[in-house]
Amino acid sequence: MIFSERILQIKPSATLEINALANSLKAKGYDIIGFGAGEPDFDTPDSIKKAGIRAIESGKTKYTPAGGIDELKEAIVNKFKKDNNLEYAKANVIVNCGGKHSFYNLMQVLLNNDDEVIIPAPYWVSYPPMVMLAGGKPVIIEASENNGFKITPDDIKKVVTNKTRAIVINSPSNPTGAAYTKEELKDLAGLIVQYDILVISDDIYEALIYDNTRFYNIANMGEEIKKKTIVLNGVSKPYSMTGWRIGYMAGDESIIKKVDILQSQSTSNPTSISQWAALEALTGDQSVVHDMAKIFERRRNLIVEKLNGIKGISCKLPGGAFYAFPNISGIFRSKGWQSVIKKYNNKNNSSALSSYLLEEAKVAVVPGVEFGADNNIRLSFATSDENIKKGIERIKEAVEKLF
Ligand SMILES: *Cc1c(COP(=O)(O)O)cnc(C)c1O
Repeated sequence: MIFSERILQIKPSATLEINALANSLKAKGYDIIGFGAGEPDFDTPDSIKKAGIRAIESGKTKYTPAGGIDELKEAIVNKFKKDNNLEYAKANVIVNCGGKHSFYNLMQVLLNNDDEVIIPAPYWVSYPPMVMLAGGKPVIIEASENNGFKITPDDIKKVVTNKTRAIVINSPSNPTGAAYTKEELKDLAGLIVQYDILVISDDIYEALIYDNTRFYNIANMGEEIKKKTIVLNGVSKPYSMTGWRIGYMAGDESIIKKVDILQSQSTSNPTSISQWAALEALTGDQSVVHDMAKIFERRRNLIVEKLNGIKGISCKLPGGAFYAFPNISGIFRSKGWQSVIKKYNNKNNSSALSSYLLEEAKVAVVPGVEFGADNNIRLSFATSDENIKKGIERIKEAVEKLF
């Protein structure tokens, strides 16, 4: 069979592979503790589910405008004003089929062949493939662990070319949890406005930010940078609505119009029922979000403390999101490490360790190499305190055996 070059350059997500392996072991009766989840473990709040049910019962089950219902666009405009102090008109916003779809569509309307998009690593696994599927070239820059997994203006300066179209900022970050401060964003904005490039700000973890830190978007740093910024957000993470598939974006009206055209000729509208549920999410009682964030913060403290108690592992406190991204390079110096590498026949350290932990500790984690960081692994703390305690204890036992 002949396939498109576009699809042939994309490999399957190892995040999914490790989950599949974990599930097959579970099916065989093994008691596996999963730290792979990329979604909150809470149920969608009742009030939101009820809004979905009401939408079905009142016949809101037909096509809507491709870019979303007016009511939801209005709610999104209000959300940006209230939460982010960002002024947009309805013509500046569009509803998409999940935050991933927002990014995908944006790439499709912005990129020509070989156009470059700067992506700081560690990055969300889906950014590079979505750039490539649009014919673009991901330009990866390292956000070093020493700098809290954040990039600086100098890092950008080194890689901007006349092919650069955009840079991605994901704060708080998946997978590192790094959250940029106002000052850091101001510095980045100061440089970026000098170039003819766009900023794609993926704010999906905005509500999950800890230590009483205030969230800022780079678009808050002035009118000029705001004009160059496209803000992506969605209901998946803050409202535990991953299955409903509603994301949205805001930015320059000409870009939004093009995304609307693309959407009208591809997916058409995001699910009508989900849009009405998302309207309730954005306009209803927001205490559900704060309650979830509090629980995640407590679990973060727990998992990071436990991870730092393991020989060969060191873990920075993530400022947001629900992932710990510990450094595992200390384990590579243990006397048992070479036999682990050999046994799992892996080119990558983080993949070998993940396979070892799955088999030896019955714990599923995601190898950091998937996010562009082979000295780390990702553990989602979207799971119970009990699982965290038990799972990390198992990791400790398996890892310390190697020393
Ligand atoms: C989960 C996630 C999204 C959005 O996911 P959807 O389910 O498609 O809304 C976007 N960006 C990052 C970094 C994520 O982790």
